Amino acid sequence: MGAGIVGSAIAYELQKRGSQVTLIDANEPGQGASFGNLASIAVTEFMPVSRPSVWRQTPGWVLHPKGPIRVSPGYALLLIPWFARFFWAGRPSKLRQLEATGAILCRRSLADTERLMADLGLSEDLSRTGCLSLYANEAEFAGDRERLDMLDRHGFGYEVLDRNALHDLEPEIAPMIQKAVLLPDNRTVRDPHNVVIRLTEAFIGQGGQIQRGKVTSFECADRITSVTLAEGRRIKADQVVLAAGAHTGRLSKQLGEPIPLETERGYHTQINAPGIHLEHSIIWPAMAFMVSPTAGGIRVGGTVEMAGLDAPPDWRRPKITVKRARKVLPNLHLEETSEWMGHRPAFPDTVPVISASAKVPGVFYATGHGHLGLTHAATTASLMGQLIAGEKPDIDLHPYRVDRF
Ligand SMILES: Cc1cc2nc3c(=O)[nH]c(=O)nc-3n(C[C@H](O)[C@H](O)[C@H](O)COP(=O)(O)OP(=O)(O)OC[C@H]3O[C@@H](n4cnc5c(N)ncnc54)[C@H](O)[C@@H]3O)c2cc1C
Repeated sequence: MGAGIVGSAIAYELQKRGSQVTLIDANEPGQGASFGNLASIAVTEFMPVSRPSVWRQTPGWVLHPKGPIRVSPGYALLLIPWFARFFWAGRPSKLRQLEATGAILCRRSLADTERLMADLGLSEDLSRTGCLSLYANEAEFAGDRERLDMLDRHGFGYEVLDRNALHDLEPEIAPMIQKAVLLPDNRTVRDPHNVVIRLTEAFIGQGGQIQRGKVTSFECADRITSVTLAEGRRIKADQVVLAAGAHTGRLSKQLGEPIPLETERGYHTQINAPGIHLEHSIIWPAMAFMVSPTAGGIRVGGTVEMAGLDAPPDWRRPKITVKRARKVLPNLHLEETSEWMGHRPAFPDTVPVISASAKVPGVFYATGHGHLGLTHAATTASLMGQLIAGEKPDIDLHPYRVDRF
């Protein structure tokens, strides 16, 4: 269940392997977080969010209304257990292990994505150029040293560029940016929503079925037997994969298997007549936003808002990000724009769950990919295919198990 990028990729993989799969979603495919993400296959972004350097900055960020992380005052009390796990997850003795857990997935995610995109006839929709990480001064560059050291530890390549080299690559970037790091393996897809659409089309082409309906409960004897939709309809199943993004926690509770899944809400502004052309995606770590060239223009987004699944969007957030983006892209025109909010599914340790249920035989989970759901969808689908078929997965899935919390 869940026809986002993760659920659709899994459904396609399982159907291709010969299972008879029904993909269930409350909406049309690809209307959740997978609709409007920043389109990046961000293989270098596996640093655990919880770490001492972030803890030190968190109070300032949270209290600043324009900071990169915002906690809604009305939701803050409900977040206490999640934040307790967040701080515990990033304790110094655990940090390197978490980092390695992320690196294992990231090391293969570009190759897996390339394979999937080729399978879908979308190879041309995956960029060949990388991502530029920007720094206005040496202090900002030094502030990002932690991430670059981590890339060195795990053998991920990058190139440090001075102002002139950056200008040669992206002339639209303002002279205030003095330094950059080119991350050549961080690519972008032209249209993340279209990847989901093509996946579901390919899935149907292989004989899969799509059912529209909101899953509200499960029937289990000694194993899962069926799921029930809101209107009362039952769908029989030998195996069920819960891949409902940030909503998966509500469903796992129904199975007696609570998981500490929160939503890190994020926004984008799609600018369809930007008046400039970018070859690379751009991140400015000190300002915590990203700009990606996408189908029909440029997409600006980022930041994190902790306000739960039900609060209405705060449309001031994307406007703050666009204002920052214009500092580095002074010729950016704001014409034909649209704004969007999505729910990243996030565990406190930044590690997704790719796992069989520890409680109910026949149930599996694939969720919590946080900022990297598009990046890891192809890899997750491949691993889930192996897990569900009872094969030995390519990697040890123990660190990604559902009962690790
Ligand atoms: C602003 C922003 C920028 C991002 N940028 C990037 C990026 O550049 N690169 C990257 O890799 N990741 C990025 N992400 C993260 C990425 O978008 C997510 O991790 C990913 O989309 C999660 O996919 P999913 O399939 O798990 O969830 P979703 O896409 O949210 O899909 C879940 C589906 O489950 C369905 N569902 C929920 N409950 C039920 C129910 N009860 N019954 C039936 N169906 C149900 C929903 O309708 C939905 O279709 C970004 C996210 C945001 C918000």
